[in-house]
Amino acid sequence: MVSTPIGNLEDITYRAVRILKEADWVACEDTRTTRRLLDHYGIATRTISYHEHNETERAAELIARIEAGETGALVSDAGTPLLSDPGYRIVHAAAAAGIRIEPLPGPSALLAALVVSGLPTDQFHFGGFLPAKQGQRRHLLESLTDEHATLIFYEAPHRILEALEDIAAVLGKRDIVAARELTKMYEEVLRGTADEIGAELQKRDSIRGEFVILIGKALEHKAPEAPIEDTIEILIAAGVERMEALKTVARERGLSKREVYKLVSGPAGPKVKRKQ
Ligand code: SAM
Repeated sequence: MVSTPIGNLEDITYRAVRILKEADWVACEDTRTTRRLLDHYGIATRTISYHEHNETERAAELIARIEAGETGALVSDAGTPLLSDPGYRIVHAAAAAGIRIEPLPGPSALLAALVVSGLPTDQFHFGGFLPAKQGQRRHLLESLTDEHATLIFYEAPHRILEALEDIAAVLGKRDIVAARELTKMYEEVLRGTADEIGAELQKRDSIRGEFVILIGKALEHKAPEAPIEDTIEILIAAGVERMEALKTVARERGLSKREVYKLVSGPAGPKVKRKQ
């Protein structure tokens, strides 16, 4: 399983180049695309087409070749094979046949986008391509409302605006990143809310390039705040002047000093005592 560049042809490992040279064949989605990569590295290995429409029959044929002693490499048009790309069937069948399968790790758009997103990386949910139909897309997004992880999707340029609209409608205000043309000449990472990124893209004559959309985690549910009087008492006990404590609490809670004063006073006068 050989990862290949997602744009910049230099993003390939020494090992991948060696294995592509040494293999008896390279199974690939589009033979012309892969040929360009192989030519760039002076690799003459024959290519065999393996794509979503011939996966099942081809998998059986390729496994028979391996069982006869050949060694094959599987690549996709870009990035890591099997990730939103064909390959799962042959790996599954090869594993069942007891064939040794080795990964040659390398580029993948989802990880490239995640590491430049500035969004949390501790937990992420990769959802592949968002559904093309709005109903299914919204339904899927709804099912992920409480997912406590950065959400990552692939999206085509002609659907990016609709996808952003649905993200805003279903998930509300969140940190969104749209990464486009990663590792290529026009690489771009847009950050903002879904509405802001949609508005920016709408200004353009055309929207080009493939996108990775990343959606920040749902905002944490805020822990209930302590009653205002208690917070002020604590500040006063710590030596803060009463008016300063009122001001601090007002600032922290987004209230005016007057509102805080009203809250802590009541009809019976100030509940928070002056410092003795
Ligand atoms: N197997 C690939 C990988 O490991 O990333 C993904 C293949 S999937 C068919 C293609 C999608 O990946 C594109 O529609 C786009 O969403 C994303 N993608 C691929 N290359 C990209 C790039 N250079 N910049 C941004 N997104 C990219």
